[in-house]
Amino acid sequence: MSTRKLEMPVKSVFSILVEYRLNRSEGEKDLSKEHEEHIEKFMRIRGENVIRLKEWKEQGGKVVGYYCTFFPQELALAAGAVPVGLCGTKEEPIATAEETLPRNLCPLIKSSYGFAVTDKCPFFNFSDLIVGETTCDGKKKMFEFMGEFKPVHVMQLPYMKTSKKSFEMWVDELRQLRTRLETELGREIADSALWEAIDLVNRESAAAKAVCDLNRQEPPALSGMELLTVIWSRGFNKDKEENIRMLDALRESLSAGGSVAAGKPRVLITGCPIGLGSEKVVSLVEELDGTVVALENCTGYKTLPLQTDMSFEDPLVALADKYLKIPCSCMTPNTGRMELLRSMAVDFAVEAMIDLTWQACHTYSIESREVNKLCRQAGLPFLQLESDYSLSDTESLKVRIQALLEMVEK
Ligand code: SF4
Ligand code: SF4
Repeated sequence: MSTRKLEMPVKSVFSILVEYRLNRSEGEKDLSKEHEEHIEKFMRIRGENVIRLKEWKEQGGKVVGYYCTFFPQELALAAGAVPVGLCGTKEEPIATAEETLPRNLCPLIKSSYGFAVTDKCPFFNFSDLIVGETTCDGKKKMFEFMGEFKPVHVMQLPYMKTSKKSFEMWVDELRQLRTRLETELGREIADSALWEAIDLVNRESAAAKAVCDLNRQEPPALSGMELLTVIWSRGFNKDKEENIRMLDALRESLSAGGSVAAGKPRVLITGCPIGLGSEKVVSLVEELDGTVVALENCTGYKTLPLQTDMSFEDPLVALADKYLKIPCSCMTPNTGRMELLRSMAVDFAVEAMIDLTWQACHTYSIESREVNKLCRQAGLPFLQLESDYSLSDTESLKVRIQALLEMVEK
């Protein structure tokens, strides 16, 4: 499938959600004004924070860009910098990226590199340092190229999380990152500041998890598109305390229920990261009258139950302990992902599961056999989808998702 030609113009966050709302099926409850206002606040975060970060930079503030949830953002916060996620979720810059990177590479890597090399992402432009990790092969090689035009620090992530050696190596990597951040940002990272940042990130994760957990009820409080908008957009907010206030206010406004009609097939999506711009499977499920009650991937729920244990003496050991628990497919074995999926399937009363793999993502693609096995044991209809960021496979995706939804007994 060629990604050289754009199939459709890339949509803005706002147009994606507006279009989704216009297409809401009959019988769908109207959004309350309050609910609508809360969701719109999250939709505006990305745009508003381009302006905020521009002002922040003009005042001498520092920004640290990252591409993976293994990045301990607490270290950047403790250095007084703003951490910002840079994973590319749009097809727009992929053609340029393919002039340098192989075409047979995951679209997330090509999109991320494309935005960086074309200087079209303001958040990349603002970043004083990029922090990467040796997660998958494509990403770690891409960082070598990125290092040609931006300061990049790559952390060596161990692949086997259970051994003592892996843990010690990871703690050492965090110490090296701390030193690099202190040098690049010109500010010492005190343990006290690190504990404060740990507490802040813990509270933000708990607030985000509490919003996601509202979808355990039937009908769910948030549609999948709303859930994605809220959880993904908060990563662009410079002010994490504001994020917590917004998440708490949204949760309170939804205590009397949300806008999703009852009785729709409840779908969980797992697999590779998804953001606005690469949301096609989420929006197709809902267009076909299912509802995405949970997103297990790392841009969704995967890291939210993880809290840094503040009883450790050394904050870096506490961070290493938390981050090494992330159940990503780059780990071997990765039993944590199956445990999380099993418990989410029960907690969110899931009726069907979709494992979405971006093209050429070998680790998630291989692990799909285990997700399939889990679904068979739980008696859940299962669908593995391999796709990219283009819209050229929309019709075939629709047919396959429709068939999955029909398997849900109602
Ligand atoms: S899927 Fe894994 S490697 Fe990729 S961004 Fe998420 S945590 Fe990082
Ligand atoms: S989706 Fe897979 S291939 Fe792409 S960056 Fe993440 S782990 Fe790597």
